[in-house]
Amino acid sequence: MLQDSFGRVHDYLRISLTDHCNFRCSYCMPVEEMEWMPQSKLMSAQEIVKLAEIFVSLGVKKIRLTGGEPLVRKDFGQILEELARLPVELTLTTNGILIPQYLEALKKAGVRSINVSLDTLQPEKFFKLTRRDQFAQVWANILLLLQEGFRIKINAVAMQGQIEEELIDFVRLTRDLPLHVRFIEFMPFTGNHWQAKQVITAAQMLELVKKDVEVVKLEDKTHDTAKKYQVPGYAGTFAFITTMSEHFCGSCNRLRLTADGKIKNCLFGKEELDLLGALRQGQEVTPLILQSLARKHAALGGQFSQDYSQADPGAIENRSMINIGG
Ligand code: SAM
Ligand code: SF4
Repeated sequence: MLQDSFGRVHDYLRISLTDHCNFRCSYCMPVEEMEWMPQSKLMSAQEIVKLAEIFVSLGVKKIRLTGGEPLVRKDFGQILEELARLPVELTLTTNGILIPQYLEALKKAGVRSINVSLDTLQPEKFFKLTRRDQFAQVWANILLLLQEGFRIKINAVAMQGQIEEELIDFVRLTRDLPLHVRFIEFMPFTGNHWQAKQVITAAQMLELVKKDVEVVKLEDKTHDTAKKYQVPGYAGTFAFITTMSEHFCGSCNRLRLTADGKIKNCLFGKEELDLLGALRQGQEVTPLILQSLARKHAALGGQFSQDYSQADPGAIENRSMINIGG
């Protein structure tokens, strides 16, 4: 069992398959020139499977594939097929653009739930945010996934001054479509020039939504990162991921494996241990996993406090989000 010094049991692993991406979201990629990881540093398909097997033997029950954009890996189909043999719930976070290419493979691998990132419902704004003119395709792919019976969560990064005008449009989407929209409070990572004033909190967003519709609070499960709500009678739900205004570190069950094979015990943690290096040298990987877990901080990687307005983004040592694997 993967238990840390605060008694938290970790059974959920997020594996970043690559730091490469076909979109250019400014909140995720460093504004400055990005240095991509060379191919030789990325875990191969076999190495991903081997490391996943070790985590599963230690008690991991759920694996999320992420990135960068996980679907840009040419061997995504092979990785999916091999991980599907493990006794885990397999899931994915994607920008959605390459979904049609992998629809059958995802079904075959038994993937039931997919998180698709979509920050705006306005094509021009989508272009500004992602630097890709592909809103229509992403939206068509979301509808395709729904039609094929996948449970779809939409991840929308909420930034002050941008999301307000669209909150109610996103919520209204859930009237007829069984979509689960999650507004994510904007988080600081290396290179994204985060400022406290760009954060709009869940409480502020909820107030705005309530001006237009009646909402009820839904029950959240122990390890949920999102606080869920619904408009009575609507098919879907909406939720807030409150990392900045009300963290959920107390019930954290997540570990991360970066595309270059480093274990990160927290999204905001600065300490990493090189599992891939150990694997390539024929050394034991498990002791490194346990060591990383033992060093996990109580909250927010020990790098800032819950009063995010006091956070100094320059003092936070981390990678960019695209480089960590969200
Ligand atoms: N490319 C995939 C995608 O966009 O879904 C997977 C990787 S992406 C890094 C994972 C998630 O992190 C996305 O939902 C993205 O919106 C979110 N994310 C990236 N940067 C963020 C930030 N600064 N604050 C909050 N969420 C962020
Ligand atoms: Fe790519 Fe996802 Fe980051 Fe956007 S959020 S740049 S799609 S990895």
